[in-house]
Amino acid sequence: MKNKTLRTLTLSAAVALAGGFAAMPAHASKEKPVIGFSIDDLRVERWTRDRDYFTAAATKLGAKVYVQSADASEERQIAQIENLISRNVDVLVIVPFNGKVLGNVIAEAKRAGIKVVAYDRLILNADVDAYISFDNERVGEMQAQAVVNAVPKGNYFLLGGSATDNNAKVFRDGQLKVLQPLVAKGDIKIVGQQWTPEWDPTNALKITEDALTANHNNIQAIVASNDGTAGGAIQALAAQKLAGKVAISGQDADLAGVKRVIAGTQTMTVYKPLNNLASQAAQLSVDLVRGVAPKFTDKMNNGTKDVNTELLTPTLLTKQNVDLVIKDGFYTHAQVYGN
Ligand code: BGC
Repeated sequence: MKNKTLRTLTLSAAVALAGGFAAMPAHASKEKPVIGFSIDDLRVERWTRDRDYFTAAATKLGAKVYVQSADASEERQIAQIENLISRNVDVLVIVPFNGKVLGNVIAEAKRAGIKVVAYDRLILNADVDAYISFDNERVGEMQAQAVVNAVPKGNYFLLGGSATDNNAKVFRDGQLKVLQPLVAKGDIKIVGQQWTPEWDPTNALKITEDALTANHNNIQAIVASNDGTAGGAIQALAAQKLAGKVAISGQDADLAGVKRVIAGTQTMTVYKPLNNLASQAAQLSVDLVRGVAPKFTDKMNNGTKDVNTELLTPTLLTKQNVDLVIKDGFYTHAQVYGN
């Protein structure tokens, strides 16, 4: 760990030096803010949409956006943020891979006069200026409630997200709010729970295979925290001819997730209008740079401070209302149903 910190520091010093030689003014003019968007993992479908919506909205507001993807590496994300600092961005918008390790690099950004926005995932123990996301506890409640509605009694497996993502914990909190009373009543038995490293569907598949084996396939419901991991789990279920028989949740309204909800192999998904999140985040970022005080409806403690927070409303999607994604322009009819 020590070595890693040392290497990070050396890299940070090198990047800072390189930045120092550049002939740029400290920051671009407030009329044309420069935004660094550091995204955990652009290999995941939803984040490419966040990137596109965000860049479009920010450009409209007169800003310039540099995008970086850390591909689920904490070291790479820190190095990329350092690089963005050296490129004199005015504001950093960050989707953290590991919400607990960015305190130092964010302190470095703050010393350089850069504003910091946590995007979708809270950054812990760091001096961030704002946090914008969806109501993630509500997402967790929706996931558990929809699965309970489909299977009120039985053996449940909890397939969590990445343990490095604060959201994964918040989804779990929401899920347990719904499940705990039913466990206490004896209706539901939680036969296992696991975090999925990197939210990776392949890891989710393996975890589900192991859970099925350990329980001799006696699992009636899986509370999965997003569509990617649900997809992996459903592959494991299909191999046991259990797809469509075991209730399973998801989130994101990924195209594959929406199709599975229609096909009946996935019980629900959660639609989060990413365009709203991205546009509001872009406006917020530009306002912070221009010194316009943005309005917030919430505060959330991240271990360092009560962070100004805005939480948008998620929508539950089941077979009954899944067409909302078409009405809302999230997908075309042809994307969902083919031609
Ligand atoms: C997001 C989800 C996403 C997951 C994996 C979470 O923090 O809120 O929408 O599916 O990360 O990328």
